[in-house]
Amino acid sequence: MINGIVYSVVVPLYNEELVIDESYKRLKGVMDTTKENYEIIFINDGSADRTRDKVEKICKKDEKIKLVNFSRNFGHQAAITAGMDTALGDAVIVIDADLQDPPEVMLKMIKKWKEGYDVVYGKRVKREGETFFKKFTATMFYRLLKSMTTIDIPVDTGDFRLIDRKVRDALVSLPEKNRYVRGLVSWVGYKQTFVEFVRQERLAGETKYSLKKMMKLAFDGITSFSYKPLVIAGYFGSLTFIIGVLSLITVIIEGLVNNVNILNFGLLLAVNLIMFGLIFCGIGMMGQYIGRIFDESKCRPLYIIESKINYKRVDEKYEINS
Ligand code: UDP
Ligand code: MG
Repeated sequence: MINGIVYSVVVPLYNEELVIDESYKRLKGVMDTTKENYEIIFINDGSADRTRDKVEKICKKDEKIKLVNFSRNFGHQAAITAGMDTALGDAVIVIDADLQDPPEVMLKMIKKWKEGYDVVYGKRVKREGETFFKKFTATMFYRLLKSMTTIDIPVDTGDFRLIDRKVRDALVSLPEKNRYVRGLVSWVGYKQTFVEFVRQERLAGETKYSLKKMMKLAFDGITSFSYKPLVIAGYFGSLTFIIGVLSLITVIIEGLVNNVNILNFGLLLAVNLIMFGLIFCGIGMMGQYIGRIFDESKCRPLYIIESKINYKRVDEKYEINS
């Protein structure tokens, strides 16, 4: 425990002047019921409205509230990363400012944490007040990502979650830049569970996730956890190559059986298919290399050790990762 703080609540803010006062009240109300020490860290992600002034006012009267101001808008994922970086609590809870994630659900997460879970994520069973487009694209994206990766990233979950300090430490140690935090939490491992909740309508204002930002997040998710898009050309190429070879065999057999000249359109097509197949296989093969280079460049550790038994301090210097 650092400075006696048990919980750190991390709240990213981007132009949230309409919701910040109510958000603070609800978060404080819920956290006070824990009767334990906490901090609420607001990360102002380069807001252009009065968000900063409003939080500064709150900070003056309530020392449990902390504010980090970004020099410009760096994005939601950068904001929650900064929150985790500065968090002092034994458990860190990430929650949106607009009260779409009901603060009361944090208590359920805390209960699970006290039962011994290291990650408790919020699973959205229903989404209120969001457009059909948003719900549809989100549903499709989570399933697409799941089908593309070997990491078990739970579907229908955002960044609303509680993580234990050791999970926070592991996340902070990951140096990669284009972060898809909810995927990294899955990657880190430890004992994970979920609580279900109904995602509420935004308290006020509009979504700060433009289509462009949504696309960036989606591509960060896919490129961070799958290199299938890079190697897919290889599958296509193999198929084309096999069809080409079969066509060539057919053309040759036909020529021999019917005793006709095989220099025809069929031969041309077969040769083309074989050549295209080989080219796509080559691209797919390059994808395999690029994928591995990309993995290396992310500098993720090879593994994360949860605990060790019967290791004495003296043994540790023989370990590769210590
Ligand atoms: N947010 C942020 N930076 C951004 C976009 C959003 O810090 O560039 C914050 C925003 O203030 C909110 C949370 O991230 O607290 C989620 O954003 P929003 O509610 O607009 O997204 P949605 O719920 O519509 O997906
Ligand atoms: Mg929202």
